Amino acid sequence: MKEKIDQLKAQAAERITSMTKNLQELDEARVQYLGKKGELTALLRGMKDLSKEDRPKVGKIVNEARAQIEALIAERKEELQKKALEERLASEKIDVTLPGRRPDIGHLHPLSLTLDRIKTIFLNMGFSVEEGPEIEKDYFNFEALNLPKDHPARDMQDSFYITEDILMRSQTSPVQARTMQKNEPNAPIRMIAPGRVYRRDEYDATHSPMFTQVEGLVIDKGITLADLKGTLELFLRQIFNENVGVRFRPSFFPFTEPSAEVDISCVMCHGKGCKVCKGTGWLEILGAGMVHPHVLEMSGYDPKVVSGFAFGMGVERIAMLSYGVDDLRLFYDNDKRFLRQF
Ligand SMILES: [Zn+2]
Repeated sequence: MKEKIDQLKAQAAERITSMTKNLQELDEARVQYLGKKGELTALLRGMKDLSKEDRPKVGKIVNEARAQIEALIAERKEELQKKALEERLASEKIDVTLPGRRPDIGHLHPLSLTLDRIKTIFLNMGFSVEEGPEIEKDYFNFEALNLPKDHPARDMQDSFYITEDILMRSQTSPVQARTMQKNEPNAPIRMIAPGRVYRRDEYDATHSPMFTQVEGLVIDKGITLADLKGTLELFLRQIFNENVGVRFRPSFFPFTEPSAEVDISCVMCHGKGCKVCKGTGWLEILGAGMVHPHVLEMSGYDPKVVSGFAFGMGVERIAMLSYGVDDLRLFYDNDKRFLRQF
């Protein structure tokens, strides 16, 4: 009997000290030896077959064995708890040397990038940048530009009116009249006016009720059509490329005379003809002309003393052609996957 108990004790000691890897396994070992159906408990039950003299002796040995196993379990439990705590501390440790989460910084919108390029080219040619209100008086938007109320050309631009005399400006041209009127009469002007304009238009791949324009105005003594051509050719070669073809076609605007549409050779097919240029090899890019004498007069300039030229362009169109974007709406969708590419 004693041998059997010693053997069991040795087995239990071995299992408890070196075969339990965590608290759950230790508890399983405790149940196996000390539980109600445990092996040591079974030995105690077997004592009823012993003689009366042997019973106390064996009982003592069994109880000692039980105490020893319990002590081993308690010791191992402490070890395993310490180990578990250490593992938890190690796994939850904060590494302060790891890089933090980077905030999304973002960058300029492709339309702002394009506008900045346009501004830089004109600033380098000595132009100033003028600004005007987006909610404009009918007088500055139309009348001061040689478009009286009954002028048929007003039908060309369906506008958003707020009252009969106030509207969302349909062009950046009112900044021309505003600049002239704030100047001394006949004072030289070399300016561009960038900004948003509003028209009642469709919202599709090439139209939007809100878009960005850049207006230009040069007034001085002796300004001719040659100055207009030279300035715009220089601008277009810098914004697109040195070899881009530039052509001027006669056109009509109420505020310039003569007027021209300015085309560049197609940046997609280089003049061979493609879908973008509708097979013509040319792309319309600007409207321009010599400032109409009436426009000068209405803002206090004397057409017998000074002359000038004006031009206007759409920033979205220039951005689309220089970046190869085929849908205008992409600029307003705020889709980061698109914007990230610039
Ligand atoms: Zn083409």
